[in-house]
Formats: sequence, structure tokens, C-alpha cells
Amino acid sequence: MTTDLVEGRRSSVGEVWRAGRSVMPGGHLDAAGCNVPADRVLDAMAAHLALERERGGYGAVPDLTEPRRALAALVGAGPRDVAFLESGTAAMAALLGGWRLGPGARVGRARTEYGSTLMLLHRLAERNGWRLVDLPVGGDTRIDPDGLRVALAAGLDLVVVSHIASHRGVVQPVAELGALCRASGVPLVLDVCQSLGHVDALGAEAAAYVGTSRKWLAGPRGVGFLITPGLTPAMDAPAPTLSGHTWDDPAEDPEPVPGAARYESSEGVIAARAGLGAAVLEHHELGPAAVHEHLAGLGRTARELLDGAGGWRVAEPLDEPSALITLRPPPHDTVEGAAARAAAASLLVGTVPAVRAPLDLQGPLLRVSPPPGTSPETLESLAEVLRGRRG
Ligand SMILES: *Cc1c(COP(=O)(O)O)cnc(C)c1O
Repeated sequence: MTTDLVEGRRSSVGEVWRAGRSVMPGGHLDAAGCNVPADRVLDAMAAHLALERERGGYGAVPDLTEPRRALAALVGAGPRDVAFLESGTAAMAALLGGWRLGPGARVGRARTEYGSTLMLLHRLAERNGWRLVDLPVGGDTRIDPDGLRVALAAGLDLVVVSHIASHRGVVQPVAELGALCRASGVPLVLDVCQSLGHVDALGAEAAAYVGTSRKWLAGPRGVGFLITPGLTPAMDAPAPTLSGHTWDDPAEDPEPVPGAARYESSEGVIAARAGLGAAVLEHHELGPAAVHEHLAGLGRTARELLDGAGGWRVAEPLDEPSALITLRPPPHDTVEGAAARAAAASLLVGTVPAVRAPLDLQGPLLRVSPPPGTSPETLESLAEVLRGRRG
């Protein structure tokens, strides 16, 4: 394919994205925090709320089969593998909190893992007698497949990996990690909160995926999800529910219903689930591969423009194929100061406190995550802010 064609496709993703939004806040560079939903997402939510008022909430239950199918397709799963929860954190808590692993079970995770997942694993290890096994990472925080191979050979019962961390734009080699886990018969839990809608997650073939709506998928706040194509009898919700379990004989343990429904509450912000559905359908219409390529291009441009500006340094490799860019401050500047100067210049960037990855970060980072359609001029303005010439 010629460069012209690639460039043409890139700009068309950005144009279609912008066309879907009657309001596109200028200077929005925080897709990894909370992205800009399309008009159709807001419309779907408003329409559902109106229907709930008109028919009564129970009469307005939407058929979410197509959204579930579209979401599951992003990881090669099916609609019955999807459960909606209220956040990525809640989805991880439901998945790991109910997983029946006995005392002495060995759970592999990297020290770069997301803060709340680390806290959850720590608590579950204390309560259930699990042993946490460190998966070795390289200097750039990439999980070392050879290290995983060694850990698997020594014995693991579960592996938890974040495809892309919240605090570092490194794309983990999940196809390779997934293949190693499958070859050893060990379930892999893949946190795709920062990767769905951003990079390809199809190759991992994990047992379960944990995701959230508002980031790269550009859905509304207040929805997360679990996708469990590798459901086993050991996997159940920590608390049974009337919609997710059956209990014919009170002398027996409640039985989960088939599929991921065991994790889903029938009560929730149903309008937000409908909104996420509209966002995922938009993502399919844009074309996931074209979006991934567009975002990788934006990431490359951003890192080139920002690395070294005012002494700030990009924390991940400059050619990393992601649009989540993290920056370390120079001695004479601070993350808070730069974020405030950016805000004064109408640029919205993220800040990453050290608690986000307490075993990895020594201090806070600045996070820049351009949504599709971000112009090079916006990124150039941020470089000016980092140089201290604005604000
Ligand atoms: C945001 C995030 C989460 C948590 O998702 P919430 O919806 O905020 O609970 C988990 N893991 C990673 C890598 C994230 O970026």
C-alpha cells in the first residue's frame, strides 16, 4: 500500500470520528481517561431514558444482543460471553473475587500491574492463601515471554496481565503471552481497559477480558464489562444473584446460569449499557484496523513532537504502536505545573499519580492520549506548553 493511501485512510478515520460529534472539545488529549462520546451515544442513552419513563423501566429493557456481539467480536468471543458491570475495577473484582482457587494457588502478575488490581490480588492472596508470583518485565516494562515460560514451568494457576497499562503506553506482547498460557493450560486474564478500541486484542485468546466503556471505546461513564470465552466451573461471581443463578434446592449451593450472565446484575444504568452499545457499533463502522493504525500514527507524531520538549522525556519507546504517551518531568518542572499550564492553553491532558502503579512509579507522570482526529497543531501546542512558552 502506498503512503498516500495509508495517509488517506488515517485522515478519513479522524474525519468520520469528528463528523460523528457535534461537539468536539478542542485540545482534548485525554482519551485514556475519558474519551469524547459520539452524538449517537448520547442519543441512544437519552432515547432509552425516555422509553423507561414512558413504558416503565421493566418494560423498556433493550435487546443488547447486537452490542454484546460487537463487543465480544473485538476479542473473538460471542454475545453470551459478555457481562456488563459498572466499571473495569468492578469487573476485575467480580472475576477474581469469585474465582475458586484453593490455598497455595499461584497467581502470576507483573509489578507494573494496575494499582487497584494489585490491591485486589493482595487482599485475595491474604484471604485465600494464594501466592503471588512476579512476572519479570524488561527495562521498558514489557513482560518478558521467557520469564513467563519459566514461571509457567515452575507452576502457575492463573495469570493476570494488562494489555496496555494506565501509566505506560507499552503494548504487551499478548499473542505470545496468551499462547504460552494456553500451551500450559493456565487461564490468562487480560485487562483490556486501555486497549479495546485502541490496539488489536484479537490474538491473545485469553480466558477472560476486563474492560471499560469510557476510554478508547468512547462510550459513556459508569459501564465496564467482562468477556469470558474461557469460562470454567471454577469461575463464578463472588455473590450469587437472582438473575445470574438458580437455586432449586436450598440444601445445595446456588448454581450459576450458563455464560457470563452469572457476573451481571439485572439492575444498573441500562441507558449507559445502550450507550456503550452505540459506541462499539461506531467503532466497527470506523473499522477497528483503521482506528488502530490511525491511533498508532497519532502516537508516533505525538512522541516525536513531545520527547525532549522543555526537557520532558517520553517514558515508552518512541515507536511504540499506541496513542497513550507518558512523559517524565525535567528537574525544573512538575507534572501538576505542566497540566495547569496546559489547561490554561485549553489543552486537557491526564496526570498519573504514583498510586496508579505503586510498585513501578517513583513519581507522577503526565499522560497524553489523543482521540482520533487530533490535529498535529494541537500536539505542537502542547509541546510549546512543555517548553514553558505558553500559559
Ligand atoms: C482505567 C483502568 C482500569 C479500571 O477501569 P475503571 O473503569 O476506571 O474501573 C483498569 N486497568 C487499566 C489498565 C485501566 O487503565
